[in-house]
Formats: sequence, C-alpha cells, structure tokens
Amino acid sequence: MSIAKNIEIIRSKIDAQLEKSGRSHEEITLIAVTKTYPVDAIESALKAGIKHIGENKVQEATRKIPLISTPYDGFHFIGHLQSNKLNALLNLKPCLIHSIDSVYVAQKLHLALGRSNRFSDILIQINSSEEESKNGLTFDTAVSAILDISRYSTLCIRGLMTIGKLDAPEVSRPLFAKMKQLFEELKQMDIPNVKMDYLSMGMSHDYLIALEEGSNMLRIGSAIFGNRSYGGRS
Ligand SMILES: *Cc1c(COP(=O)(O)O)cnc(C)c1O
Repeated sequence: MSIAKNIEIIRSKIDAQLEKSGRSHEEITLIAVTKTYPVDAIESALKAGIKHIGENKVQEATRKIPLISTPYDGFHFIGHLQSNKLNALLNLKPCLIHSIDSVYVAQKLHLALGRSNRFSDILIQINSSEEESKNGLTFDTAVSAILDISRYSTLCIRGLMTIGKLDAPEVSRPLFAKMKQLFEELKQMDIPNVKMDYLSMGMSHDYLIALEEGSNMLRIGSAIFGNRSYGGRS
C-alpha cells in the first residue's frame, strides 16, 4: 500500500470521526512520525499533503531534516530530551517540543534557550498509564510542575502530550479522557505563560479513540509508512 493511499485512508477516518462529534478538521494537526523511515518516504508523505513531521531522536533528525527538499510547516520533537543534545535539537528549529517530562528537563531547555536568546513552545508529557517504562509527569504532580515550568520565561507551555497504552486501544480511552479533563482544568486556571491549545495524543493504533476523547494533535507513524524495522535502514 502506498504512503499517499495510507494518508488518504487515515484522513477519511479522521474526517468521519470529526463529523460525528461536529468538529472541523482545521482544528486537528496530523503529525507524520517519521522516525526510522528514510528521507524518500518523508518526501512521499509531504507530497501527499502532510505538513507536520515528528522525530524522537536528535541524532537521526539532524541527519535527515537537512535532506528534505519538499516544504512543510513544522518539525515536532516527540522523544525524551537529553541535556547534551539540547543545542543540536534547537539548531533544527522544532516548532513544538512535545516531551517535556520534568521540571529538570524544562530548566535545562530554558538555560540553553536563554544562552542564545531564543524561545520555544513546549508540551508537558504526562505518563497517563503510569507505566515505569514511560516518561512523563503523573496526573498528581502535573499541576505543580506546570506552575514551576511556567516561570521559565523562554518557554511557552502550549498543552499536554501523552502516549497511550500499546494494548487494545480501548484500554487507553479512560486515560485519554483524564488527559482532556486535566487539559480543561489547566485552561480554566489561566496560568501566565500557559496556553492550553494542543492536546497531543493518539498514534497509529489508537488515534480514533484519542480523537473521540478530545485530542487535537495526532502523531501517526506506522499507519502511514508501514511497519518499522528498528536497526534497519533509516
Ligand atoms: C513512534 C511514536 C509515535 C508513532 O507511533 P506509531 O505507532 O508508529 O503511529 C507517536 N508518538 C511517539 C512519542 C512516538 O515515539
């Protein structure tokens, strides 16, 4: 199946879901997660109308992004941030960093940005399933951490991100619902430097559930590009 065809199928599923809930597709950002896929696959996705791409490793992104020739709107960083890779990441000018998972990481990013007089939009990653293998703040600690992070003047918190469970998608529905609830609570709190615009949740296996529960930013990889072969060519 071709990349363009996959994108068309995903878009029509998204549209059908949105129609049910009376939302418009303009409020949804579809990010093609390009990690492990080669540049020619990324080009095919961009030619098929993808405007946002996401990578989770700074080194891989640094290698691939300069080779992309088709224009697009933004590069999203969605992986765990290591402090020794911050400057390399900032050089790639990410439009949004989805994966701020601690006050510590936020502080490191703030210092790196401050040194070069730059700013960044960020999302706060929540470990909604509370699995040990995943990064992110817990629901219990999120609000106080967000209050702390909001004081870093180089950062603008634009929303929340989570990764659902890799189980059957319905397992994640209550987690996504809880994310939406936290998102709305934070919006109500009206914290300076915090704008709750983006709720980034939903991947290849659970994007329709995430959408139903209020996501407006989907991160989809394998449903667009096919199964990933880690360690293979990329
Ligand atoms: C890999 C990845 C995705 C996309 O996963 P697929 O199952 O291939 O759609 C989304 N978000 C994050 C953070 C990822 O690392």
